Amino acid sequence: MVTTTERDGMTWYECEVCGMLFDDRNDAQQHEENCDSDSADPSYLQ
Ligand SMILES: [Zn+2]
Repeated sequence: MVTTTERDGMTWYECEVCGMLFDDRNDAQQHEENCDSDSADPSYLQ
């Protein structure tokens, strides 16, 4: 799920998987679809 965060007076969209920030919500969502490692890496956050 993409989350929003405010930084330097701007709203950024953050990939919850890797923490990468985007200035465009669609870019963030597209990235996260390819970044989602919930099932790919069982050791992550377990
Ligand atoms: Zn990511």
